[in-house]
Amino acid sequence: MDRVSRRSFILSVGALALAPQERIEPELILYNGNIWTVSDRIPRAQAVAISGGRFLAVGSSEEVLAMSTSRSRKIDLSKQTVLPGFIDAHSHPAAAGRSHLRQVDCDLRSIAEIQAALRERARQTPAGQWVLGFKYDDTKTSRSFLDAGIRPTQASDYPPGPFEPMMALQSEVTRTDLKGNLWGAQQRIKVEEAIRVGTINGAYASFEERFKGSIEPGKLADLVVLGRDPLREDPSSLITIPVERTMVGGRWVYES
Ligand SMILES: [Zn+2]
Repeated sequence: MDRVSRRSFILSVGALALAPQERIEPELILYNGNIWTVSDRIPRAQAVAISGGRFLAVGSSEEVLAMSTSRSRKIDLSKQTVLPGFIDAHSHPAAAGRSHLRQVDCDLRSIAEIQAALRERARQTPAGQWVLGFKYDDTKTSRSFLDAGIRPTQASDYPPGPFEPMMALQSEVTRTDLKGNLWGAQQRIKVEEAIRVGTINGAYASFEERFKGSIEPGKLADLVVLGRDPLREDPSSLITIPVERTMVGGRWVYES
């Protein structure tokens, strides 16, 4: 299918998936949070109601808690920051898993360390067989895309680059590597932009912005709870913000 017909096809499926839910009773309410929705309609919120794996409502703690019944589970977020689930638009999980089993992880801090790791593997490898390394860093150029009106995604290409979303955020905002070297300062973007790049733009790239990428009623309940607010963080320490919990489709899949 060409781009346009594929797009309209997926959107028509989306209209069905977003039909009014039978259950309007929240199964779960997260309240008292600092929620960045990445939605233009309600950019900030304190609470979300979740039912059937989707967001049912987004608003103030008072508004959303008023929807609760005796069966609704309620979790106090204690002012923690919540973002939509991050979307890695390009990575190679299966190939990366095979590489981790068979190759030398070269995500090290110096050429000398990489040489030592390769030498150690060579020592354990029968003569005549290959020693392969993987996980070399890459670079990103979000600013040029944004300025051209294109919606770049957060794409780690893991294993060539690290997959950690907070590292992606930091590198897009600072364009600075682990040693403090600046790579293309003119490509820096703002934290707000980097969050959009890592969430709604990833959904847009796969024609799924109707279902995910932001915290809005009807969308899949995908979110992350962070230990600190990235918008109030020094950009050079974004990577140190702990991911406390991750929810996919209304289910907690990670808890620190
Ligand atoms: Zn790739």
